[in-house]
Formats: sequence, structure tokens, C-alpha cells
Amino acid sequence: MSDKPNKLITDDGLRLDGRRADEIRPMKIEIGVLSRADGSCYLEWGRNKILVGVFGPREAHPRRLQRADAAVIRYRYNMASFSVEDRARPGPSRRSIEISKVSREAFEPVIMAELYPKTAIDIFVEILQADAGTRTAAINASSIALADAGIPMKGLVTSCAFGKVDGQIVLDLNKEEDNYGEADFPVALTQDGEITLLQMDGHLTPEEIKKGFELVKKGCKEILEIQQTVLRKKFETPVEEPEAEPEAKTVDTESEAAETEPSLEYAPEAAAVEETIEEAEELEEEPSEETTKAGAVTETVPEAEELEEIVKEAEVEVVDGEAIEEAIEAESEEEAIEAETEEEAIEAETEEEAIEAETEEEAEEAETEEEAEEAETEEEAIEAETEEEAIEAEDESKGPWKVVKDPSESGSRGENDE
Ligand code: UDP
Repeated sequence: MSDKPNKLITDDGLRLDGRRADEIRPMKIEIGVLSRADGSCYLEWGRNKILVGVFGPREAHPRRLQRADAAVIRYRYNMASFSVEDRARPGPSRRSIEISKVSREAFEPVIMAELYPKTAIDIFVEILQADAGTRTAAINASSIALADAGIPMKGLVTSCAFGKVDGQIVLDLNKEEDNYGEADFPVALTQDGEITLLQMDGHLTPEEIKKGFELVKKGCKEILEIQQTVLRKKFETPVEEPEAEPEAKTVDTESEAAETEPSLEYAPEAAAVEETIEEAEELEEEPSEETTKAGAVTETVPEAEELEEIVKEAEVEVVDGEAIEEAIEAESEEEAIEAETEEEAIEAETEEEAIEAETEEEAEEAETEEEAEEAETEEEAIEAETEEEAIEAEDESKGPWKVVKDPSESGSRGENDE
């Protein structure tokens, strides 16, 4: 335990923690912190840390405790063994039983217990860290937890203590002021200003109590504002559904866009692949010149008509041409069959063309050996070349291929690899 300080209030009128006489410690409240409780609250007030859970209204057990006309209110104040400087003995004590009783009575005037006969409303208080004023802090937290549980109440209960320190009346005592002060006076008030808790430890004059009550009213008013603010924040938060729907749509749109992004990214590649496939198909299906002409004829009727006229004229020319008839007569039946196509017929129009179209056997029979040599085609000439010429030609054709297969080249690759 720390030693007693020489002064609890400085010459400037400030307390050891920097507060003035009428100021409360900073308070922090969280609501609905326990998922299994019907209502809950976590409260920090100075160095006090308190957790409250409310259960009910629920069927009271044992049944002998049930009331036919109202709910039974049970309040259990428990101080954790680690909550104080010196280890607190676990379990109920005279102090904790007393605090539980007076705190329960602080709520009985406001809780509408008559609405829930044969039931119980349980308030469990756990002091996690104590620094004086734990009962008042627990009442403030329990009030919020009861509201969080939806327990009908006539109003909130607020609690604060005043005391006497260094001969001065101060509000909301801290641990040093509680231990070394002259008096401690905890009070609980309803919203209507009715007193539901009043205790006194020490000695106070009526004037000091009156002055202290004025401080408590001020403090409880500030605490009530904090409680109401916390409850409004949870239960009066406006639901902006009209704005939420567009946001949801926006999110959906973004998600849809995100889903389509990958396909958009791959789209160019897919398009390139499709183009390549189409080009390959076109190459495979690329028609010959005749087919192309036929296709053009099919597509453009005027051109087809013109071509038909040209063909007819050519046929007429072929039929009427004496030279052609002579050529045809000169040709053998096989030649005529080979020259059945229009192009062959046109090529055979002149005698020279007919001669060129003659077979090799006919050329050999009709022409001399020199004429036959002149009439030979390039392929025939190549075939007629001597073996040496053929070998030379083969060397020329195979030469580059052999270079590619030159082992020295593969050897250079190996050197590069090294
Ligand atoms: N205290 C303690 N051990 C105990 C009981 C109380 O150290 O067994 C401390 C604790 O910090 C408590 C303070 O004494 O807050 C004042 O206790 P009191 O009985 O006056 O109740 P409170 O002011 O906490 O409502």
C-alpha cells in the first residue's frame, strides 16, 4: 500500500490526479460486449474497470424465490481477486454482500418488475480493476446493461460519490482520497432526482452533506448524459436504406466489372488466336484460280454473264475455226480428250499450240531427232541429261542441306552452350 501523501489537494486547488473538486474522472462505456448476455456493459471510470452482464427476465430458480406479482431482481457484486493491490479473497464477503444488497435496492424503484411475475432479472457485476468508487461505477454500468437487455425501467439510475479530503468537499473520490480522506458518501439518483442509494463512511456536517449533494447532482447529470449518449448511439442510429441500396448496386457493379476484367484482359489474345485460326482455315479452303473465278461469277451476275458470253464465243470460235478443226483432226483422240477443257482448247487454237500439246511419242514420230530435242520440255531435258549432269544438279540441291547438317555447326552450338 502506498504511503499517505502530504497533501491530497494542492495550493492551486487541484487534486493529485489534476481534477478540480467538482470534476468526475473520465468515463468510457461500451455496450453489448457479451454475446451470451441479454444486456451487457463494460465501463472504465478512472482506473476502475467493470463488466456487467444482465440476464432475464427468465424463470426464477429455485422456485421458492419466485414472486407471484413481480420479477425477482438479483444483483451480485463480485470483486476479482486481481482487481486490487492486495489480493482479494475469492467468493462473497460481508462487503460484497452489502454492496450487492444496496445496489439491488438502488434499482428496485425504477425496474418495472411487476410486468414479469415469477421471473428473475439477474445482474452480475465483475470488478476487474478497483480504484475506489466501484459500487457507484457498477450501478452506472448496470443501468446501461439493463437498458441493453430491454428491461422496462422508469428511467436510468446514475451514481456518484462525494467525500471530504483535506477538509474540502470533493466529487468522485479516487483510491488515495478514499483511503486517506475524512469521509466517503456514495449516492445513486434516478432521472427524477430521487435518491435510491445513500451511504456514508466518516464524519460530515449537515452543511458539508448539503454541499456534497450539490456536487453529486452535478456529477450524476454528467454521467446521465454519457449513458444516454451511449444508448442513443446503439438504439437510435438511423438506418439509411435508400443510400445503402445504391451503394450495394455500386458494389455489385464493381464486382461484376472485376469479374469481367480478366476476360477483357484475355480478349485480345483470344481474338488473335481466333484470327490465326480463321486465316489457317482460309488458307486451307483457299480456292484455286478457277474456283475463285467461279466464286466471283457466282457473286457477280454481270461478270458471269460476260464470262458466259466469252465462253460461248470461244466455243463458236472453236467450232467455226478451220484451223482449230484441223488441229483437232491432227491430234489423236487422246490429245482431244486432254484438250477438252476450254483453256486447252484455246491453247490448241493455233497449230503451234497444237504441236506443243502433242505427246512425246507424236513428237518423236513427226519430227526429227533434233526437232524432238527442241520440243522437249525442261523436265524432259533434265531427264535426258547425262548422269554427270544429274549428279551435279543433285550436288547443287543437296549442298545447302549438307551444310546445315554440318557437325561443325552443332559443335559450335556446343561451344556456345558451354
Ligand atoms: N479495496 C481493496 N480491497 C478490498 C476492498 C476494497 O483494496 O478488499 C479498495 C478498492 O480499491 C476499493 C476501495 O478500496 O475501490 C474502496 O472500497 P469501498 O469499500 O469503499 O467501496 P467502493 O468505494 O469501491 O465502492
